[in-house]
Amino acid sequence: MSTIMTDGLHIPSTTTAAHHSSTPEADVGVSDLLFLEPLTEQSFIDNLRRRFHADKIYTAMGTLLLSINPFRPLPSLYDEQTLRLYKNQRVTDLPPHIFGAATAAYRDLIDHGTDQVLILSGESGAGKTEIAKLIIDVITSMRILSREGEQVGARLTLSDLVLRAFGNAKTASNENASRFGKYVDIALNSHGEVVGANLTTYQLDRSRVVIQGPSERNFHIFYQLLAGADAILLKSLKLQRNVEKYTLLRCGGAYRCEGIDEKREFMTTRDAMDGLNFSATECHLVFQVLAVVLKLGNLQFLPQTNVDGTESCTVLNDHEIDEVCELLEYPDPTRFHVVLTNGIIPEKNEPTENALSAAEASWLRDQLCKALYNRLFTWIVSRLNRCLSYSSSNSRSFLGVLDLYGFERFEQNGFEQFLINYTAEKLHVVTYNMIMSYEQEEYIREGLSWTRVGHASSPEVCDVMEKNHGLLFALDEASQYPSSSPLPEKVDERLIEQLCSTNLGTEAITLPKKTSTNNVPMDRFTIKHFAGDVTYSVTGFVEKNIDGVNRALAELMFSCRHALVKELFPDGNPARTNTKRPATLANHLKVALTSLISNISTKNAVQFKCIKPNDRKQAGYFDEAKIKQQVKYMGLLDQAEVRRAGFAFRQSYENFLKHYKMLSHLTWPTWDADAKEGVRLLLMSLELKPIEYAFGRTKIFIKFSETVCRLDDLRRMKL
Ligand code: ADP
Ligand code: MG
Repeated sequence: MSTIMTDGLHIPSTTTAAHHSSTPEADVGVSDLLFLEPLTEQSFIDNLRRRFHADKIYTAMGTLLLSINPFRPLPSLYDEQTLRLYKNQRVTDLPPHIFGAATAAYRDLIDHGTDQVLILSGESGAGKTEIAKLIIDVITSMRILSREGEQVGARLTLSDLVLRAFGNAKTASNENASRFGKYVDIALNSHGEVVGANLTTYQLDRSRVVIQGPSERNFHIFYQLLAGADAILLKSLKLQRNVEKYTLLRCGGAYRCEGIDEKREFMTTRDAMDGLNFSATECHLVFQVLAVVLKLGNLQFLPQTNVDGTESCTVLNDHEIDEVCELLEYPDPTRFHVVLTNGIIPEKNEPTENALSAAEASWLRDQLCKALYNRLFTWIVSRLNRCLSYSSSNSRSFLGVLDLYGFERFEQNGFEQFLINYTAEKLHVVTYNMIMSYEQEEYIREGLSWTRVGHASSPEVCDVMEKNHGLLFALDEASQYPSSSPLPEKVDERLIEQLCSTNLGTEAITLPKKTSTNNVPMDRFTIKHFAGDVTYSVTGFVEKNIDGVNRALAELMFSCRHALVKELFPDGNPARTNTKRPATLANHLKVALTSLISNISTKNAVQFKCIKPNDRKQAGYFDEAKIKQQVKYMGLLDQAEVRRAGFAFRQSYENFLKHYKMLSHLTWPTWDADAKEGVRLLLMSLELKPIEYAFGRTKIFIKFSETVCRLDDLRRMKL
């Protein structure tokens, strides 16, 4: 991986030596934990508690910003006036705030030309997505010079609304949980105005379309549509308003989301689509796909025993098929029926010899529902990207915002949690090591006197997963079944047996130990994640990992006249033959994350750690044990120690001199002797205190961001 810390890096900070070392208001604690004395786990937590109870949800830790989800709106924290304050004043003079951190990252991008990536981490429900939204609002409002710039900002906000409707759902830990990872790269022109953006999404939790855990729901858009569509629209979609009529919407047993007016949300989503120039036809096509998914989900298969004793099935509620065919403009419902119950395209409209059992047909139906929804989501994302696109000649720098899944642990953990926690694990290793490893290594490399603090996060879990013949490899191998037929029985147990036989069990992963005498179930394994142990039930792993859809169903979809569905299933084009190995989700995710990490490692990273105060989503309740656990697994204390002793800014002597030499007559206008000596003279004439900087082999290190801000202010005044 390339180095995270680039030359000329300026980690924007909400910290100032002056601001924070002054006497803290006793009841609200210090606003920068680097100035906490003494620094212990208990004092750290106590400080957070005091601030939390005083509605000070943001606390700085040098260049890193911590936030605690207040679980209630705090409008005065985000009003226009506050935003103006952070935009116009030096952020290091103001209390820590997301506005300050976002403004600082923006200024760094403009002043130093460094691309930025703002990384949000924290478990599900900790407030990442809310903060990501605030960041994007701040960045798009920083510099509006043209009507175009204004429009891009508005479009980003609208895109977020559409993504939320289609990609968020109620889960056990969050009423409005993002069920996909998101990376937004915002492009800015040379004037610092936003010109466009590109969205990348990761791993939509597509199983949710067909099954939801207890008290969870399907994606919001389904409920919005049923509640918000007017009678004419509903009729044209052949839908009924009553949620309970739809199997796919009732398996979690939850129909409502606390405090959400579904009808109004639908209007919001619909308006957002309008604002993004989705045509009326496009919207209708999208809603039709949703209706098709709901109706397919209602199909019930009736088992039949054939004369030769084999099992086949027929559809109990055929009228749903008729309506699906009408929606999809497919002319032959009988044929549709035969494909669904046989899994192949028959020669004639008659059952084939290998007709499917009811269970197999249900499995196929679910595969189709998931594929339809997932492909619709992908289509929407690319549609949004088209709307946000920009010309490369007009874009000079980039600011990325990364909002991936947060760590999840439920009573039952399946394939979804496995992928989510793999992602969280990777992100944790990268963000933790930015400080604990790369940062310290640089000090040592540059010859600063430095005693190592803590230790780098062990990438053992990622390693066991990613290495040759590791967990992901085994899963990929186990998933090499053609998507045309249901899977053999016990395919998941065989995966575990395979893992056991390759001795994958290590400290990071515990596999069941079967002996001739015990009867240990072979259906679960445990991973020691950074945030705690999670036991995964392996049932469904292989099935969920296979991304393909049955060839016959793909052909069926492609042969519909419905313009969107046809576009969603290019693999159903009979003219196209596919000889590739079937794609698997875990493998796909691994590749996507590797590319993401190499992208963010070229940028200056600013970290945001979101903390969840309790599991009850309750305002004002500071669950100390819960918070302690998060502080521990995020390694915040170790990071505080490194940051306390470390430096907020470093730059090569040459670049530093080039940038700031105008501040002293000793170096201005030309300094052609040794650059390090030039910097020494420059700092001396600026009367910096020795504690504020250190000389490395090739770079100058400045301790506080505040110092750099001061120099930048001076420079701006002289320009
Ligand atoms: P995450 O993305 O980390 O899973 P969310 O950003 O979706 O978490 O936050 C979960 C819920 O918590 C939100 O729907 C909102 O109700 C509440 N919340 C989060 N952040 C804030 C905040 N800064 N102020 C007020 N409420 C918040
Ligand atoms: Mg989220």
